[in-house]
Amino acid sequence: MKRLALLSAIGLVLADSPAFSQNGACPGTSAIAGSLAGGERRDVCDAAARTEQGLAICGIKPRRSYFVELVPEVRNTRVNCIFGQFRAGEKDVARVASPGATAALVASLPDDEPQSVLKLIPRAEFHQSLLVHEITHAIVHQNLSVLPCHAVHEYISAVVQLDTLSESSRRIYLDAFAGNSDYTTEMFNDIVLAMDPSRYAAAAYRHFQKPENGCPFLRRLLTTADVLPRLPD
Ligand SMILES: [Zn+2]
Repeated sequence: MKRLALLSAIGLVLADSPAFSQNGACPGTSAIAGSLAGGERRDVCDAAARTEQGLAICGIKPRRSYFVELVPEVRNTRVNCIFGQFRAGEKDVARVASPGATAALVASLPDDEPQSVLKLIPRAEFHQSLLVHEITHAIVHQNLSVLPCHAVHEYISAVVQLDTLSESSRRIYLDAFAGNSDYTTEMFNDIVLAMDPSRYAAAAYRHFQKPENGCPFLRRLLTTADVLPRLPD
């Protein structure tokens, strides 16, 4: 199956589901939503269910629990504010900026930057997709049998993130890069990713959709070294 057809009913099922377990685990998933409560917890658990369902279609499943946190801000090593971050360690932790912080970050994007297309996607939907993106990093990390480069991680997270957007939002996103995000496999590398992560994401989704790629390609990224060209350190 090329397309990760996700069950749109998942959100509804979760919305009606009873209490969350006491340690913060999201029922039916390997996600632990920590101290989150109410709507935030529901959003995280919904995203975890969507992500796990999507990856399961390609035969990729969590190997152990992972933690999901919503925080006032996330900073990278250059102390820039970013939308989210995954940290592997004793605990696998997917950390995403709160909905408010995410909206502020999107609003601050200059209109002439490619990433400003995010302003056209409904806020709640975009935030949900960020959770999907970081949770995908956690599950991918648990399934890697080769040392990945960033290009591998971001390829897979972009595919699942864009797949979980509504049809109309995904179209808006992909159309923003129409005509210049058709990459060959060799073009997915860390330098191209760093130059324009937004375009890279659109290109990954388009590449994944091709008949010769799809789920088998995703699984190869996890298990086979250098499917995407590794650049010298
Ligand atoms: Zn990422």
